[in-house]
Amino acid sequence: MQFVSLNPVTKNRKMSATKYVFVTGGVTSSLGKGIIAASLAKLLQARGYKTTIQKLDPYINVDPGTLNPYEHGECYVTDDGAETDLDLGHYERFLNVKTSQANNVTTGRIYQSVIEKERRGEFLGKTVQVIPHITNEIKERIQLLGKTGEYDIIITEIGGTVGDIESLPYIESVRQLKWELGDNNAIVIHLTLVPYLSAAGELKTKPTQHSVKTLMESGIQADILVCRTEHELSDEIKEKLALFCNVKREAVIQSIDASTIYDVPIMMQDEGLDTVTLKKLGLSDATPPDLTQWNEFLDRHKHPKSEVTVGLIGKYVELQDSYKSILESFIHAGAINEVKVNVKSIHSEYITNANFEKKMKGLDGILVAPGFGERGIEGKVKAVRYARENGIPFLGICLGMQMAVIEFARNVLDLKGANSTEMDEETPYPVISLMEEQKSITNKGGTMRLGAWDCELKEGSLVQKVYHGKKDISERHRHRYEFNNDYKEQFEKAGLIASGINTETNLVEIIELPDHPWFIGVQYHPEYRSTVASPHPLFVGFIKAVLVHKKQQTNASLA
Ligand code: GLN
Repeated sequence: MQFVSLNPVTKNRKMSATKYVFVTGGVTSSLGKGIIAASLAKLLQARGYKTTIQKLDPYINVDPGTLNPYEHGECYVTDDGAETDLDLGHYERFLNVKTSQANNVTTGRIYQSVIEKERRGEFLGKTVQVIPHITNEIKERIQLLGKTGEYDIIITEIGGTVGDIESLPYIESVRQLKWELGDNNAIVIHLTLVPYLSAAGELKTKPTQHSVKTLMESGIQADILVCRTEHELSDEIKEKLALFCNVKREAVIQSIDASTIYDVPIMMQDEGLDTVTLKKLGLSDATPPDLTQWNEFLDRHKHPKSEVTVGLIGKYVELQDSYKSILESFIHAGAINEVKVNVKSIHSEYITNANFEKKMKGLDGILVAPGFGERGIEGKVKAVRYARENGIPFLGICLGMQMAVIEFARNVLDLKGANSTEMDEETPYPVISLMEEQKSITNKGGTMRLGAWDCELKEGSLVQKVYHGKKDISERHRHRYEFNNDYKEQFEKAGLIASGINTETNLVEIIELPDHPWFIGVQYHPEYRSTVASPHPLFVGFIKAVLVHKKQQTNASLA
C-alpha cells in the first residue's frame, strides 16, 4: 500500500516521526484486542498510512512454539521462521502485509536478551533491574519497527489485562514512551468490557471506570476507550463513561458483538475509531478509507450461493483457536468461490473401525490437520483412506500429508507397520523420518524446520494447476519429520507422486495422487499465507474441487 503523500500533515514529516498507538486491555481477557488492533490498522492502511502491528506477550516462554495449543491456541509462523502468537495471523489476514519476529515479543525473550547482555558485561558492573534494564529493552523492541522508517504508524498490542503483575513492566514502558515521544506521537487505546446485567436490565460502566483507574495508577491516561458490549451503548452511557474516565465523548467507541470478525473494521469506521485516532496523533483524516476490496469480500462471504461441508480431522478440535488459520483460510476460499464452507470438526482420536464410515458420511471434502505426537493418528490414517478410496477431495497439511504417505504405504504398497519415526521408532518401514541434521537435537524450542522454504512444482501436476501454472513457490514450515526419499521410487511407481520438491535439499514438499479427482498433501502450512486480499490458492482450489464433488454426488443421486 502506497503512502499518500498528498496528506498535508504527513508530507513534511521526518522519517523518525513514526506514530505509536498502544492497545491495552481491561476488566477481562479475551475481549478481542487483536481484532480491534487489526481493524484499526486496516482502516489506517486503507487511508494510505503505512501501518504495522506488534504484540507484546507477558508470559515467560521465549516464544509460543512450546505452548500447548489447548492452552494458547495455534502457533502462527512467519516467513522468517518466528513462532508467534495467533494474533499475528489476524494482522496478516487483515492487512495483507507480512509480519516477522520483530512483531512479537514475549517477557521470556526480553529477559533472555537482558541476561545475555549481562553475561557479556554490557551493563558495566551495574545492578541489573526491572527498571530501567527490562523496561529499556521493552522500549527498544517497541521502537525497532518504527526505526526502520518503513511505517507511519505502529500499533502495539499489550497482551494480558491491566493490573496483572506480569504486565507491569510493559505498562511502565508505555508510560515512559508516551512521556518521551510527547503528545500527538503516542496514544493509548484501552479496550474494556461494559457488561449487561439482565436481572437489572442495565449496562454497567463501573468495571470500565475501575480499569481506567488502575491504568492511571500506573501513570497512564487512556486517550480512547473501546467498549465491548452485547447491547448498544446509549448516549447517556457514553457520556457517563467519558466523564468518569476522563476521555472526550467522541473517544468512547462502542464495539458491539459482531457476526464475523471481518465486520469489525466497518463497525469501527462507523464509530469513528480511525478519525479520533488520527486526530489524537495530529494526522490528517482527509483521505477516506478505501475499503472497496474489503467490502466486496464481505459481500461474497455473507451471500453465498451454495454450501458445502468439509471435515476437519484433528486432535485439538475442542478449541477452535487451535486451527485458527485453517478456519480463516476456509472463509477466504469460501468467499471467492461464493460458497459457505461448513467445517465439521472430527476428533481423530475417536475415529474407529466401527464408526469411521458414519463419521465421514456426508462430507464433501476432507482436510487432515497438522499435529504432533502419536495420539489420534490412526484415526487420521482411516480418514485419509476413506478420502482416497471414495474419490473425496483431500487436503493433508503437514502431519496430514505425512498420514497420507503412511496410509498409502500400508494399504497400497502393503508395507505393514509403515509409520513415521515420530510415532514408532522401531517401524520396519520408516516412510516418514528425521533428517540427519535433526537427529542430534534434544532442545524442543525453535529447533524445527521453520519459516519460508522454496519449492519447485512439477510440470503438469495438479498442484501446479492449483498455483495457476507457477513453477516456483515459497511456503511456511513448522515440522521436524520428512518424507523418506528411500521410498520415493516405490511410491511413484504405485501412483503417489512427489509434485513439489525443495531443490536445494531434495526434500519432498508436496505429494499427490494423479488418479484421484483431487488429493494433495503438503509438508508446509498454506494456511499461514491466506489473507482476505489474497486467499490461498490451495484452499481456493480445494473448495472448488469440493463444490464439483458435491454437484456430482447430487447429480448421481438424482439420476
Ligand atoms: N509432527 C510432525 C513433524 O514434526 C508434523 C508437524 C506439523 O503438523 N506441524 O514433522
